[in-house]
Amino acid sequence: MANSTTHTTGQYRASSEIAERFLAFFRERGHREVAGAPLAVPGGGTSFIIAGMQPMIPYLRGQEPPPAPRLTALQRCLRTDDADAVGTNGRKCTSFHMLGNWSIGDYGRREAITLALALLDELGLDRSRLWVTLFGGDEALGLPRDEATAHEWRRMGMPEERIVPLGAEDNLWTMGGPGPCGPCTELFMDRGVARGCGRESCLPGCACERFLEIWNLVFIEYEWLPGGTYEPLPLRSVDTGMGLERVAAVLQDAESVFETDLFMPARTRLGELVATRGREAPPGRSAPSDQTDTARLERAEARARQMIVDHARAALLALLAGVGPGHDGRGSVVRQLIRRAARQGRVLGLEQPFLGELLGPLATGHGALLTPEEQARVPELARLVTEEETRFARVLTVGLRELARLAPGPDGLVPGERLFALHADRGFPPDLAAEVLAERGLAVDWSSFARAREAHRVVSRASAARRFGKEEHERSGQRGDGGGE
Ligand SMILES: [Zn+2]
Repeated sequence: MANSTTHTTGQYRASSEIAERFLAFFRERGHREVAGAPLAVPGGGTSFIIAGMQPMIPYLRGQEPPPAPRLTALQRCLRTDDADAVGTNGRKCTSFHMLGNWSIGDYGRREAITLALALLDELGLDRSRLWVTLFGGDEALGLPRDEATAHEWRRMGMPEERIVPLGAEDNLWTMGGPGPCGPCTELFMDRGVARGCGRESCLPGCACERFLEIWNLVFIEYEWLPGGTYEPLPLRSVDTGMGLERVAAVLQDAESVFETDLFMPARTRLGELVATRGREAPPGRSAPSDQTDTARLERAEARARQMIVDHARAALLALLAGVGPGHDGRGSVVRQLIRRAARQGRVLGLEQPFLGELLGPLATGHGALLTPEEQARVPELARLVTEEETRFARVLTVGLRELARLAPGPDGLVPGERLFALHADRGFPPDLAAEVLAERGLAVDWSSFARAREAHRVVSRASAARRFGKEEHERSGQRGDGGGE
């Protein structure tokens, strides 16, 4: 695949090559490669596959026999629960590729750690920049410090100061409730003091950009019982997940995941579109009056560029999984991704639909990570995105103009009924309105939003009952207002 544009350091590897090396490495060591699950598994409501290990849960729980005791896979994931963090740091993506190796009752921590280090060496990652965390124990839970893992890292020559014990919230992996669980050890790359916060307490787990978590090895060895106790499991397993975007960022010496080969062609195209079609000053913006203003605008634009390619990529993967923009379920997630990205285009001065034009460059960036059949579908999907964006463009223009006029009330909050009116009369999504206001440092009075919505329901029920009789009235009530999609 084409990646000749940037980052040609000695260690450079294209993302698709990293993925292939990972899978081949584990295949060569007795792991059976299994296909990733479809991003939109049947059922699952609005949710997509959110973690690389999700398809492996029946094996890890012993509910189904695995196809082999050693497995490896590349899994596409999509999760929107912290989509707001995208663009605020260099590591968070709405969609991502997880590479994993699994031992179902086969090898334990010694082999998992040995394999991980051997692969990192093979990929050319600098071992002197590797730090690890492990479970430091929890008295309240009655769980000891994971001394066995510390021992394995020491055995592999990891200096003591780069082995960092953390608490249950970081290094005790659970399914979010009773079930199989266990301590984990996370591998971080030190990206240099210059990228860090400079605090003395800066260690793996810090929110700054210095330490980037690239791989998590989970040793599933307890059953968390409903009573809150932990029992050793008879069948011990290993579950690992390596974030392809993050490893690519390290190997390509990219500032963030959004400067890797996956996103660069789309970033370049976006830059061209802004240069040729972007207006000088987006609406509601006066010329920056001082340096603080300029810095704030630059930050907003940098975030917009990252959010746009992030959301466009997530939409592309969802579309490839057969989920188009729609009113509810997963379709509403895709619609929201497209709308949020369209709105960020306005931050860059892009008034006309542009997202569809990024799908082709994204597909180029992903190269062999997309199948030839998927590559062939991209032009058709790009048209679909443009149609969706075009439908929303007028709503966006009118809504942004009205939002720019909104001011907070005496309580410091923007009256929620104004947002509701914008939604009911103009179709402007309230969550997007809240996001736009938040960028101006404004919060919404959601209680008055709820009151306005309830009043609207009562009125529409009454009028629907007059016009259509009871049956239609009930349906109208159930349909709701489609808010908060
Ligand atoms: Zn830090």
